[in-house]
Amino acid sequence: MTEANTQPEVNIGLVGHVDHGKTTLVQALSGSWTDQHSEEMKRGISIRLGYADATFRRCPGVDEPECYTVDEECEDGSASEPIRTVSFVDAPGHETLMATMLSGASIMDGAVLVVSATEDVPQAQTEEHLMALDLIGIENIVIAQNKVDLVDRDRAVDNYRQIQEFVEGTVAEDAPIVPVSAQQEVNLDLLIDAIETEIPTPDRDPGESARMYAARSFDINRPGATAEDLKGGVVGGSLVSGELSVGDGLEIRPGREVDEEGQTEWRPLETTVRSLQAGNRDVETAHPGGLLGVGTGLDPSLTKGDALAGQVAGEPGTLPPTREEFEMTVDLLDRVVGKEDDESGESDIEDISTGEPLMLTVGTATTVGAVTSARDGECEVSLKRPVCADEGAQIAINRRVGARWRLIGVGTLA
Ligand code: GDP
Ligand code: MG
Repeated sequence: MTEANTQPEVNIGLVGHVDHGKTTLVQALSGSWTDQHSEEMKRGISIRLGYADATFRRCPGVDEPECYTVDEECEDGSASEPIRTVSFVDAPGHETLMATMLSGASIMDGAVLVVSATEDVPQAQTEEHLMALDLIGIENIVIAQNKVDLVDRDRAVDNYRQIQEFVEGTVAEDAPIVPVSAQQEVNLDLLIDAIETEIPTPDRDPGESARMYAARSFDINRPGATAEDLKGGVVGGSLVSGELSVGDGLEIRPGREVDEEGQTEWRPLETTVRSLQAGNRDVETAHPGGLLGVGTGLDPSLTKGDALAGQVAGEPGTLPPTREEFEMTVDLLDRVVGKEDDESGESDIEDISTGEPLMLTVGTATTVGAVTSARDGECEVSLKRPVCADEGAQIAINRRVGARWRLIGVGTLA
């Protein structure tokens, strides 16, 4: 890897209970921002999406795992060598809504599950997020046992055993558990070592057609910008296959809702790629991995305020169909997971019934659907907002239980 080639090549989700240290850990691993991108882009995308890139490095002549670092200078003053740039996807702020985690899951190649050593295991979202990784089939997992600076040795060992017991029989059963302190930057070398081993960069075929999941969209113009300074709409998200280059044509689906004589319909948008930002810099061609900002020729009013979040972009004519309703086969969980102690409501999951509302996450899109017909193991839904998805697409199914939407199972688009 050369210094110039620091586009991230893999997306790693940060999941786990609120306050267990996800954001602190990302900060410790990604260090300060390398400020090569414009203020607008930074304001617009990096912060709101919670993506942060980190370049893992190695100090030459030092044994593993001590050789791993994110600093450019080694302890002996020599320069470290870059190994791989990864992109961490962290839910912004105190966002705990499952939908955010699930839409992130569609672009994660692996995940770091952060578990605080100061609390009993599992806390509500620790359980809920692990169940989501399990359901969606994210198998490359590293567990960070965080805040070990706050507990004594006995408590740390006890908590470690609780984690082991908790992940038994789940997708994280064989995941390494690395004790760390994100805040005191302890054992980050061990954590990097584990990530390098457990979360490899997926094989990708650059010849596949470009497919991007939009997670956000913006109008990056400052108020009062003159017509000639006005920049086209920006779409932020992740490329999941193929490559995208400046000058390429771009179709975005479902697009926009058009109202004609009382009839509404969704029409795809078509534009061209005017600029690309990946790995904190302008690039001519973007590859899968990390956050991608695509400057387009679209009227910025179309991209304002995340209007295109959840949509799919790619080479014109290659995108999946837009669906206002669909049929799916359904796999339900045995019981509701991640309930706080003080929450009421049934813990068993009843079959899906005709007429009930469901919240569905398809790719990065979250939409509410009404069940129009339900049979054993399958159902049909009619959506409030259409999605662009292929047959076989995985759908996270949420039901309102008590005061919250709860993950109750996964569907496969039939
Ligand atoms: P998040 O909600 O999972 O993103 O958690 P944050 O990263 O925001 O951390 C929550 C709080 O825990 C903050 O006050 C952090 O400073 C603190 N914190 C995070 N990691 C550590 C750690 O390793 N040790 C200690 N002592 N505090 C930590
Ligand atoms: Mg956070």
